[in-house]
Amino acid sequence: MQPTGKVFLVGAGPGDPRLLTLRGRELLSRADVVLYDALVHPELLDLARSGTELSFVGKRGGQPSARQTRINQRMIDAARAGKLVVRLKGGDPFLFGRGTEELRALAAAHVPFEVVPGVSSPSAAAAYAGVAPSHRALSSSVAYVTATESSEKDASVHDWSTLATATQTLVIFMGMRKLESLAQLLITHGRSAETPAAIVEWASLPRQRSLVAPLGEIAGRAREQGLAAPALFVVGEVVGLRDELRWFDRLPLFGKRVLVTRPRHQARAFSRRLREAGAEAVERPSVRIVDPRDPARLSQAARDLPSYQAVVFTSANGVTRFLDAIAEDSGDARRFGQALVAAIGPKTAAALAERGLVADVVPREYRGEAAASAVLEALAARGMNRARVLLPRAEVAREVLPEALREAGHEVDVVPAYRTLPPDAAGQSELRRLCTEGRLDVVTFTSSSTVTQLWEALGEDALELLSKLTLASIGPITTATAEALGLKVAVTATEYTTEGLARALEAHYGSASNDGDD
Ligand code: SAH
Repeated sequence: MQPTGKVFLVGAGPGDPRLLTLRGRELLSRADVVLYDALVHPELLDLARSGTELSFVGKRGGQPSARQTRINQRMIDAARAGKLVVRLKGGDPFLFGRGTEELRALAAAHVPFEVVPGVSSPSAAAAYAGVAPSHRALSSSVAYVTATESSEKDASVHDWSTLATATQTLVIFMGMRKLESLAQLLITHGRSAETPAAIVEWASLPRQRSLVAPLGEIAGRAREQGLAAPALFVVGEVVGLRDELRWFDRLPLFGKRVLVTRPRHQARAFSRRLREAGAEAVERPSVRIVDPRDPARLSQAARDLPSYQAVVFTSANGVTRFLDAIAEDSGDARRFGQALVAAIGPKTAAALAERGLVADVVPREYRGEAAASAVLEALAARGMNRARVLLPRAEVAREVLPEALREAGHEVDVVPAYRTLPPDAAGQSELRRLCTEGRLDVVTFTSSSTVTQLWEALGEDALELLSKLTLASIGPITTATAEALGLKVAVTATEYTTEGLARALEAHYGSASNDGDD
């Protein structure tokens, strides 16, 4: 008989995917089946193994109770088939999340389970919006209240005559469609219309919006601003502290949706940096790195490496591809021997370091001319005036560097190590969808190829689509590539790294301009 699996009821946290617990992450990475709800951040699903069955079981109309029975049955069936099931629910599974019902169904079916708590939405509203429910002087009691499907039911389900004034702070869930009647119930049952109240929508995400207003006015103001679910409605004096406690919506890039076009494996650190600044980083590569047309030349160069006196790398991709070619030829870093190794740009040097090589020269300025003179100086310092120089790099690249080296008398072999192409058809239509939807604020370009390939991917509408967005570039060469296509680049980094680009964006938007939404 097959061993029974297990169901893990896991709290996914309130939105920001970084708020998942370590236990939750571990279980997601081991799961065979993941059943997730509507408010679960899609990025969390990336934590699952590639073979995991991912199933959306959130609200999409239909009979709620029938749906719940179906979810319970699926968990039971999968566990009985020996699967490790993660039932992923928004916030904490036991806070108005039907967690109890699901566990009872499992218990009745004798299916083993465990529960992993999650960061709840009121915790997120406290942390990310400064709407904290307790304060020694202002509030030492809090009630969590859920609204129901209808105003009539809201009025009858709770005993408002006690609830409205029983605690100093009230946190109301799922109330956005009935704000007027809820506020009215509270006022009718003894809460002053002057009581400070707040709405926090999409707490902990870059799209978070907050509103603070007196209880008597908040429903109208929320309508004006179009605030909707998911949101919490918080009532009590503590709300008045938000201005002192808020920090998230004051981050320099708060709320900006920024497209990161570099290839996925290089995007992570940049995206993380943008999120630190409050932005929503949307990773959709506009380039694909593939083999060069003639890979044999790279293999040959890997074999001939000992005959070169210098090797110059101009990109991290060049480093990775070339060192892979050496490995494929059953070689290792010893093939570099005494050769001078130059890395143009800190990321290139870092890629070398990852493979155990310390670059001899890392030019401070990495535009072609300046970089060339730094390499030339290093060669001269070693007394090499007719060196054989190997340059493994992109198939299409600027000629400034090899030409400057040749002019100085060196013999330069430029060997294509990779090619950049636009994304595949699915990737292209995804990019087009993002750029047409109107929900992006910024497009970042971290190399000339990210510009040209995005241009290709967007087709004939490229100019029109990109003109509506803030374009940000990593440096003058990339900017020149964009301008040659007729694009207007609003932000060009002065330090040509992704860190420099992030800083330039922060300066562009300025921390002072984000003084919030209420
Ligand atoms: N288990 C969840 C709550 C589920 S009920 C938790 O622990 O938070 C769903 C309601 O929670 C939504 O209607 C909304 O009122 C609130 N909610 C969930 N996520 C939210 C968020 N990111 N920001 C504001 N409210 C949220």
